[in-house]
Amino acid sequence: MSGLWQCHDGLLTAACVAATAGGKWSRLRSGGRPLNGARLSMDAKLEERLKFATQLPTLSGIALQIIDLARDPDLDMGRLASVLSRDPALTAKVLRVANSPLYGQRRRTSNLRQALMVLGLNATVTLALSFSLSACLQEKGSKRLDLDAIWRRALLSALAARLLGEHKGLHSSEELFLAGLLQDVGIFALEAADPDRYPAAVSGQASHEILVQAERDAFGTDHSEAGAWLMRHWGLPEYLPLATMESHELRTASVPQDLVPFMACVAVSGPVADVYLAEDTKTATACAAGAAEAWLDLDQEALGDVLDRLRESLPEIESLFETQIVSSRDAAAMTDQARELLAARNLQLLQRVSEERQQTQELRRLSQRLQETARRDALTGLYNRGHFDQCLEQDYQEATEQGWPLTLAFLDFDDFKAVNDRYGHQGGDTILRNVTAEMVRQLRADDLLARYGGEEFTLLLRGTGHQEAWAVVERLRSAVEGMTHELDDGQQAQVTISAGIASHMDAGHYVESAETLVRQADRALYLAKRLGRNRIEAAE
Ligand code: GH3
Ligand code: MG
Ligand code: MG
Repeated sequence: MSGLWQCHDGLLTAACVAATAGGKWSRLRSGGRPLNGARLSMDAKLEERLKFATQLPTLSGIALQIIDLARDPDLDMGRLASVLSRDPALTAKVLRVANSPLYGQRRRTSNLRQALMVLGLNATVTLALSFSLSACLQEKGSKRLDLDAIWRRALLSALAARLLGEHKGLHSSEELFLAGLLQDVGIFALEAADPDRYPAAVSGQASHEILVQAERDAFGTDHSEAGAWLMRHWGLPEYLPLATMESHELRTASVPQDLVPFMACVAVSGPVADVYLAEDTKTATACAAGAAEAWLDLDQEALGDVLDRLRESLPEIESLFETQIVSSRDAAAMTDQARELLAARNLQLLQRVSEERQQTQELRRLSQRLQETARRDALTGLYNRGHFDQCLEQDYQEATEQGWPLTLAFLDFDDFKAVNDRYGHQGGDTILRNVTAEMVRQLRADDLLARYGGEEFTLLLRGTGHQEAWAVVERLRSAVEGMTHELDDGQQAQVTISAGIASHMDAGHYVESAETLVRQADRALYLAKRLGRNRIEAAE
């Protein structure tokens, strides 16, 4: 069994298999962190609500078993067959797919074992997941959501993702189908987390972009992120939450290179589905064309071919999933209309839409960059005091609730006024930059070093108790002492730092507030200064 399925707890611990343009699955290793962890912006409150939401879609026993199979690197055919055969309806569907024209099957198979051979282990597990998860989602009884519209978009996107992948020569049709199918599952999660806040009166007929914008206004995030959360919560293989995260706007920079074509197919599949679902076919077609061109490098002719194939495959998918998505007459008419729109005389419209899309993306990037700049200090590039205060408050609460240790260190340059007097203010600046850069190099990504003000810095060590923190700060102190700074005017300078540290939730030691922790570390720093500088002291 390939490594695609070896994902634990939503982390890519061992390997995740990625689709490449050449159609090969290749292994992708990662150091045990969520790949896009750095980008997650969902606030803690929402995540908390999701965790305790009672209305999340529930998984059936068979779906849970199949997720388990999907995560098992040593899965064998016998076990898969034995789980599937416990659900005759599912078995019948798998058999039907194995014999369906979608698979270009020459020989008819009549038993499950043969079907497994034809489809392969991965594809069968993925298919079974598609069927069993879609059954769970259809049972979701929300009154406020237009379930029918969501479901039809899911199926159409699934088919579109699959056909786009085939057009690009990706050999991962089932995975694409599943990723396409589930990309909007976060709608259920967001709605369940806070039904009153969920944008009402947004149906699948309205443009998906309007829905996404309304969600962002209400929650500060949209269903792509909530969906990724839900998938990790369910323990689905990591490529699914990843594809979902990118489903509204492909950020190629944040996805491993070899996964980009896969993610792109999923990101384009939604707009392609909207060609058949949106009230305004014209705009929807323009959006699909823009997305197909930007993310998959597909021209209008190629997209037209995909739409034709989609229309042809529609009846098969409809009968497999027992749903009517669009009547075949409508589908034919809409495909023709879309094809016409895609023809050259609509180039102008397409260009305008794609320009607008680019502008929106640029604006979003710009605003993200501005937000980031506002949190940084200009001289050192470290986080500033405002950001530190925010983090400290959050980390303090988390540590208190979870019982995790948290250590705060105050670092202050020794006799820095004299350093400035001797080397000039510019020399002092260079030293501040050198030293902080070295400290960042020595710290872990999860440690937060911030410029508190002037030549005073704070270091927040999460999950770190007093003893370990002392060792970290001592390493920094000694590294700074050992540095020689070459200044612009040819002079060489050396400086030292002093530090005060205070810990919370360490060996039962409880500090009553974040401010108290700051005060304790500050007092310890003062002690270090009084006892001679270039040393560390801890709060008593
Ligand atoms: P101590 O060992 O007690 O900390 O003595 P100190 O001289 O470092 O302490 P004090 O707080 O009196 O002075 C801090 C100095 O740091 C004064 C200030 O000019 C300098 N300083 C603060 N920010 C910057 C900066 O951004 N660049 C430079 N070059 N100097 C700075
Ligand atoms: Mg979506
Ligand atoms: Mg100082």
